[in-house]
Amino acid sequence: MAPATLLGSTGASASSDPSGLVDRFGRRAVDLRVSLTERCNLRCTYCMPAAGLPFAPDDQLMTAAEIERLVRIGTSRFGVRKVRFTGGEPMLRHDLVDVIARCAALPDAPELSLTTNAIGLSHRAAALYAAGLRRVNVSLDTVDPSVFAEVTRRPFLDKVIAGLSAAHDAGLAIKVNAVLLRGVNDALAPDLMRWCLERGYELRFIEQMPLDPDHAWDRTSMVTAAETRAMLSESFELVPDDAPRDGAPAERFRVLARTADGGVGPELGTIGIIASITESFCADCTRTRLTADGHVRSCLFSDEETSVLGPMRDGASDDEVAELWRRAMWAKPRDHGDDTDDLVHPTRGMSAIGG
Ligand code: SAM
Ligand code: SF4
Repeated sequence: MAPATLLGSTGASASSDPSGLVDRFGRRAVDLRVSLTERCNLRCTYCMPAAGLPFAPDDQLMTAAEIERLVRIGTSRFGVRKVRFTGGEPMLRHDLVDVIARCAALPDAPELSLTTNAIGLSHRAAALYAAGLRRVNVSLDTVDPSVFAEVTRRPFLDKVIAGLSAAHDAGLAIKVNAVLLRGVNDALAPDLMRWCLERGYELRFIEQMPLDPDHAWDRTSMVTAAETRAMLSESFELVPDDAPRDGAPAERFRVLARTADGGVGPELGTIGIIASITESFCADCTRTRLTADGHVRSCLFSDEETSVLGPMRDGASDDEVAELWRRAMWAKPRDHGDDTDDLVHPTRGMSAIGG
């Protein structure tokens, strides 16, 4: 395909900064999320319908070589420093170790991490570490087996726990992501926190976002960051961490035990609370995303997508792909609306975008 067709004829001034993925509001994207698949072996109620979704066929997904090429364009031209693989469930990609190894072997290799439900991680953690993976974020909303089965619609808690221990043994840095659902797992949040602190896993609570494909999200049922802080403070002392957030979405807290007489005991570790809805951090966003079918998505909440995989398969050069990517990011929205009436509800659900 000719460059003119690829890039269109609309104003080239839109992406005027050739040095990076800059948008109209002066933000620069240096953190890349790459979705590897839309498929998943769980059906978390806030993410996927019980019956699953119509998944893109495998031949429409980026191959390991195409992912490597896009990551190379990101690191070499845009200064991308961190790449996080996600999905869907990225562990379902049989070539996951190859994907990691290719990206780790790039000049100026970025820091590589994986967001996963950890099912199957017990068998692959060591190989992933050897390939160059250094961090995992494991989704775990409760350590109560029956509540886990209710949230995920699958009875696999023991597999997740085995995956976490294998990741720890392999030397991977671990964070645990939890979404609290009112009346389901919210009252168990202090138990989950204690469990993670005892094992040295940094737990982060994430506000539920309107990214469920059923569009059942409801502002009133969402457990807010403020409610989470208040609930945890009944059992622990939370001390805000003053270190600069540097674009990171989580507000971090040092956790101290409470003594029997209500005083403050020893420090137990650190947690994070991600207030994506009620205390939006859009102004500091450093993220750019690639969907599993090779579209640039500038924001989780924007339905605007730009295919880079199609043009790549039609013979686009690195320069042409980079220009498409820049233009897509230039159009990144300022924010996703506030948490009341104008909050954007995107069409694709979280599993199809890549969380
Ligand atoms: N399957 C992997 C996992 O669960 O970690 C990776 C993909 S998942 C979409 C990535 C993250 O998105 C998970 O931590 C999950 O809890 C979170 N997530 C999914 N749907 C969400 C929603 N509606 N609101 C907030 N977080 C959500
Ligand atoms: Fe699957 Fe992750 Fe979505 Fe749960 S949150 S259904 S594990 S993609």
